[in-house]
Amino acid sequence: MKKISKSELTSYLFCPNKYFLTYVKKIRQPTTEAMLSGTRMHNVFEKFFDVCYGVEPNNWDKLIKTDELNDIEKRQVGFFLQQEKFRFEELCKAGRERDYYPIMREKHLESDTLGLKGYIDRVDVFVKGKEVTLVEYKTGGKIDLTGIRRELSFYKLLWDDQRGADDGVATQFLLINPKLETYHYMKAYGRSVKAVEKQIEKLRCALDNDDFPRKPHERKCAACGMCRYVEELDLSNI
Ligand code: SF4
Repeated sequence: MKKISKSELTSYLFCPNKYFLTYVKKIRQPTTEAMLSGTRMHNVFEKFFDVCYGVEPNNWDKLIKTDELNDIEKRQVGFFLQQEKFRFEELCKAGRERDYYPIMREKHLESDTLGLKGYIDRVDVFVKGKEVTLVEYKTGGKIDLTGIRRELSFYKLLWDDQRGADDGVATQFLLINPKLETYHYMKAYGRSVKAVEKQIEKLRCALDNDDFPRKPHERKCAACGMCRYVEELDLSNI
């Protein structure tokens, strides 16, 4: 069974034609500065946990090299550290300091049974050995909570199948968007997971039937730009 990633599902739900051009025809639009900035921020947050163990939170800002970051990115680092200090202090008050450190970061998981694959940004302890929080970093200028819940429900399917029995099932999500100063916890609902399963099934049907219609919509197309890019490259005969 073909393994589907979260990005593939997101792309298909955005517009089947975008999925077709990106994942079937393998056309990649040029990388934007926003994408590069997102990657830089992900790297900073990921590497922070390599070095923060045992360091006094008031010194955490010294652990992060900010020379190559712009002012907006430096502000995002500041917000991230402030929220992480708060999370650390709350766990210390509860006598759970060790639970502060994530179980996993940038973890690649694949499930042959479910036919799914993906990288999970971070997994935190929620109830030790029983429940975990799946964490997603975003750096966009807007928040689509429905989309985020869908993405994290996708990861819940994958996580529970692969690691749930050993590390605890995913019962909570955390969205961190430091650009919008957002640090938002959400309960993981079974109905959201069911909805994602149906959407995955829809994508599998589309793949079986080679059915990827265009779904033009003025605002979405302006943000996507894929059809215009294909026309400009004169790839319209694909
Ligand atoms: S430009 Fe519009 S129709 Fe074309 S792939 Fe993007 S969303 Fe779909």
